[in-house]
Amino acid sequence: MDNQTHVVIVYPHPDDESFGGAGIIKKFRQEGVPVTYLCGTLGEMGRNMGTPTFANRETLADIRKEELKDACEYLDIDYQYLGYRDKTIEFEKQEEVANHIKEVLETLQPSLVVTHYPEHGVHPDHNALGAATIEAVRLMDKADRPTVWASAITNDFEKVLGEPDIVYSIEDDFEYKLNAILKHKSQAEGMFEKMQDTSGEHQVFVDGLKNRLGKERFFTWKFED
Ligand SMILES: [Zn+2]
Repeated sequence: MDNQTHVVIVYPHPDDESFGGAGIIKKFRQEGVPVTYLCGTLGEMGRNMGTPTFANRETLADIRKEELKDACEYLDIDYQYLGYRDKTIEFEKQEEVANHIKEVLETLQPSLVVTHYPEHGVHPDHNALGAATIEAVRLMDKADRPTVWASAITNDFEKVLGEPDIVYSIEDDFEYKLNAILKHKSQAEGMFEKMQDTSGEHQVFVDGLKNRLGKERFFTWKFED
């Protein structure tokens, strides 16, 4: 986990960086390690458009761009878009996506790449972009490959994959992660409303969230060739 020179996170949607990485991002930034988020899509097909509806698909893209800008400012990281369409990454040719990501990684020269664990990312975009990112690193010369951490978020991943070797707990500083997530208001609106609730149910909700999001867990990817 230590001695990184540049960390690149590759996830498909504005908000994945906060849900899946706010803890490790904070740790790396405190150590002065640069972090770049490569965001696969604009998340323009997101289903949550508010009640009453406050966005259509076009304005949702703009809203989510603003939200990601705010979140990345808060997290103190750089970001770039990879330019794919939300909910379609699985239909792209994996080799093309991998070559695209490889080019970007060769420019950024990260020591560590963080992405979703293929088949354990829950969402098809997560699985497809995770697989393409791992392929991108595999295509590099062995000597130049950054370390890859793959995030598994399926309910049964421990049963299938065993214990992750990287477990980073943000439970003591959970507000920090929550604040990053809440920058994505269009997605976190329901959550945000529940946060305002000070009744007993509120604590149950926050405890549940902490349980789910308080530990960021990754598998160091083992390349076979
Ligand atoms: Zn996502």
